[in-house]
Amino acid sequence: MSIYLDHSATTPVDDRVLEAMLPYFSQHYGNPSSIHQWGQMAEAAVERARRTIAGILNCRPDEIIFTSCGSESDNLAVRGAAVAARHAGKGRHLITQPLEHSAVGKTCRQLETYFDFDCTYLPVDSQGQITPTVLENAMRDDTTVVSLMLANNEIGTLLPIAELAAVAHAHGTVFHTDAVQAGGQVVLDVQALGVDMLSLSGHKFYGPKGVGVLYVREGTPLVPSQSGGSHEFGLRSGTHNVPLIVGIAKALEIADAEFETHTAHYKAMRDRLIEGILAHLPDVELTGDAQRRLPSHASFVFKHTDANMLLMQLDMRGIAASSGSACKVGNPAPSAVLQALGYDEAWTLGGLRLTVGRQTTAADIDSVLEILPETVKAVRQLWVTA
Ligand code: PLP
Repeated sequence: MSIYLDHSATTPVDDRVLEAMLPYFSQHYGNPSSIHQWGQMAEAAVERARRTIAGILNCRPDEIIFTSCGSESDNLAVRGAAVAARHAGKGRHLITQPLEHSAVGKTCRQLETYFDFDCTYLPVDSQGQITPTVLENAMRDDTTVVSLMLANNEIGTLLPIAELAAVAHAHGTVFHTDAVQAGGQVVLDVQALGVDMLSLSGHKFYGPKGVGVLYVREGTPLVPSQSGGSHEFGLRSGTHNVPLIVGIAKALEIADAEFETHTAHYKAMRDRLIEGILAHLPDVELTGDAQRRLPSHASFVFKHTDANMLLMQLDMRGIAASSGSACKVGNPAPSAVLQALGYDEAWTLGGLRLTVGRQTTAADIDSVLEILPETVKAVRQLWVTA
């Protein structure tokens, strides 16, 4: 048996994406910065990709910056905007929240530790939600950047980004959102969302790994993290990775064109999983927001359960899942996310994330529902005797 339920970690590359990328490895291999026809062909491919993505995000092509991954997009957005704003004398206060991906969380911590910034981590409720009022109460005169994720990678919660961005803008503050998990699953219209910056990563929506996008609204002051030959409007130097740029654009184009079909399928699979698990297993809770969550995302917390052991047991049975917790084999540590949601130590080692994809079938879900109860039971027995 082989059931992959870890699509939030990564997705396979769509065959159509691979096909679009292949000629740019060894056939059209020019450097887009070169003046000759090889270069021009590569440059044309990069600019086509930029226009495709801009059309889907509803922005201008020159507001799309290609990066090497979602993490780089987050780093460039948060550090770049923070440093630019402080240089302009606007202040040194940042706002984020404890459930951000570490690409944002650790960037904020680094800015605090090494660059004398001051960061507020907004409190979240038990579903990982943040209201505009909570943000409003944290805003200060010297707040320069607010970074709040669109979709949470561990618990699937979708934040009300348009309302949160409006709060930041009322104070003249730049707003960034990490939309890495939302690619292909949520409509990403940057005008409707009202964000100044938005991060994406190709491998979360059936594109290649190692390529990301940062949308940067025109006029948003940003200091580049990577200096050099002034590629990407001076915001991200480095020779373009043409095949991967072609790939991320093709993947987003497909995800956009087939949005209804795929998201309807994800929701059906996700709900079958959630209903089955909550109905048939004792001492388990759904984590994240039950309504406002990613279509593909089912996440749970199991009482008195070591999630790492559970993952290994599931892997031995051919099921790929992941944990919401940061525990390591032999050295379990409670999940900071589950702690921030208010769970006590009986629960904080027991996070399980199951994320469905285009290939997931109802039979896959039913197999998981059959295997999971006995696996959890076995792992819980080990917990009691440990
Ligand atoms: N942000 C979120 C919410 C993510 O889930 C991830 C990856 O899992 C990233 C950023 C980092 O993306 P990448 O793997 O492309 O660096």
